[in-house]
Amino acid sequence: KVLVASVCVAYVAVKWTAPRFNAESLRGARVLVTGASSGIGEQMAYHYARFGAQIVITARREKVLQQVAEKCLSLGAQKALYIAANMGNESDPDKVVDFAVEKLGGLDYLVLNHIGSTSFGMWDEDVEHIRSLFKVNFFSYVQMAKRALNALEQSKGSVVVVSSLAGKMPNPFTAPYTSTKFALNGFFGVLQHELSMKKSNVSISICTLGLIDTESAMRKVRGVIDAPAYPATEAALNIIITGATRQPELYYPWFTYIMTLTKDWFPSVTNYVVQSTYKYKP
Ligand code: NDP
Repeated sequence: KVLVASVCVAYVAVKWTAPRFNAESLRGARVLVTGASSGIGEQMAYHYARFGAQIVITARREKVLQQVAEKCLSLGAQKALYIAANMGNESDPDKVVDFAVEKLGGLDYLVLNHIGSTSFGMWDEDVEHIRSLFKVNFFSYVQMAKRALNALEQSKGSVVVVSSLAGKMPNPFTAPYTSTKFALNGFFGVLQHELSMKKSNVSISICTLGLIDTESAMRKVRGVIDAPAYPATEAALNIIITGATRQPELYYPWFTYIMTLTKDWFPSVTNYVVQSTYKYKP
């Protein structure tokens, strides 16, 4: 109990001393959001629009992107442009960054959020699927960050990486997805160190999310996982604030922070709690 209480106190202290968010700082900000045709990415596009940002959104479905961009303009975005791209293709990540930098005249925020589709269930031993998921969920993130780094250095900009609790602790039924999120946390965690050691202008924020009520996530877990899902619009706003205040990490909802700590202190209890949220009969 004492341990849990001290973790909670530490968490509240960290939150209390976090820099204050100034919504005005996003007016006119030049933002690229990936995976913005649905879910959390779409909600981020709408929040940035309400803050008066200039946005480029990307995903594969051009028609849907067009509709999201139109809504962004109606919500107050100074600019809302879109570019269809498949992050599984080798040249598309560079193409998207170049488009955003050219059309916006630079870049302040690179928000990496997209994920490729994957099944939810026991690992089916499909190695090729893991290889191709890594292209979308990991290598394209690395490639886009590299391509955008110059522009971000010039603007004192930020890379915002949308990751998951699955990138901190393994959860059943998500082997390919979890592998890519662990890789992201590893790579961008190292980059955080190195940019700081080089006294770089660029900040990196890594966002750890728990279960969020997006359509794609709910479709997978419905009837299998017995755990609360948190609103995508609130998750999106928390991610944006984390990037805008240049904080290195976000944990949303708050208890994901406790879970990442206690998994190492009490592994068997954590494993029991995780497995008992799954409805599975062998
Ligand atoms: P969605 O499935 O709703 O959205 C995924 C987005 O990625 C869509 O815009 C999709 O658009 C795009 N996308 C898919 N494949 C490709 C591709 N090959 N190339 C380019 N774009 C692609 O995801 P969520 O909103 O649920 O998740 C967003 C982020 O939040 C992810 O990084 C996820 O890991 C993280 N997260 C989500 C949680 C949740 O419970 N929802 C929990 C923890 C983390 P299109 O089909 O048009 O290409």
